Amino acid sequence: MPNFVKMKKELLYEGKAKRIWSTDDHSLVIQEFKDDATAFNGLKKDQIKNKGVLNTGISSAIFEYLIAHGIPTHFVKALSENEMLVKRVEIIKVEVVIRNIAAGSLVKKFGFAEGEELKFPLVEYYLKSDELGDPLFSLEHILTLELATKDEMEKIHSLALKINELMQKFWFDRGIDLVDFKLEFGRAANGEIILADEISPDTCRLWDLHTGEKMDKDRFRFDMGKVEEAYAEISRRVKIHN
Ligand code: UDP
Repeated sequence: MPNFVKMKKELLYEGKAKRIWSTDDHSLVIQEFKDDATAFNGLKKDQIKNKGVLNTGISSAIFEYLIAHGIPTHFVKALSENEMLVKRVEIIKVEVVIRNIAAGSLVKKFGFAEGEELKFPLVEYYLKSDELGDPLFSLEHILTLELATKDEMEKIHSLALKINELMQKFWFDRGIDLVDFKLEFGRAANGEIILADEISPDTCRLWDLHTGEKMDKDRFRFDMGKVEEAYAEISRRVKIHN
């Protein structure tokens, strides 16, 4: 990658697990993955060794797979072991969670049994706000808050379900059950809704198909040990070509 093409210029945004840098091209930014991990709305903080590099590889491979299957995304290319070049978007302040198997809050708040398969995928919306603790909210809240239009939300909902189908197959082929995961979407310069952010063990619940072992950030959240090993195993399986 010749240096003159995309140089990091200034830090535009620093989140919990990533930094976003401007480049000499206004339509492109660099997404840098950090080893930092947080949970429970920032109450638990630590580092997971090698996470930035592992998540860059995992996320890049997944974006490439989704693009090959017709999903519009912000991904342009991997730039280095912990950086990817992505299209600049305006992030829609809605975290979209898709669930296939009951875990986490479905068990705690709604009385499902952990591991229970849902009759059909459940799409939930959470307000993307650290100060407010990312509350669960409805389509009507989103429209009332003018975070997105009805047309944009219809597009997001159908993309989320399509991505879920593709990702369920992707993980199944690698011996993994996709329990649930979180997506973020952005508005590109031309107004198009595209998938943004990342897809990695930080943002998915991934259980081994055969042993049921948890291979994602829950190992960090609940001090289960072997966190780096789980991310490395996911990275290894992602590289399996079918
Ligand atoms: N998730 C995420 N970032 C968030 C919130 C959720 O990546 O800020 C992912 C999380 O890893 C899991 C799914 O979305 O795969 C559901 O997470 P949630 O925090 O809603 O967990 P639960 O409420 O089920 O405990």
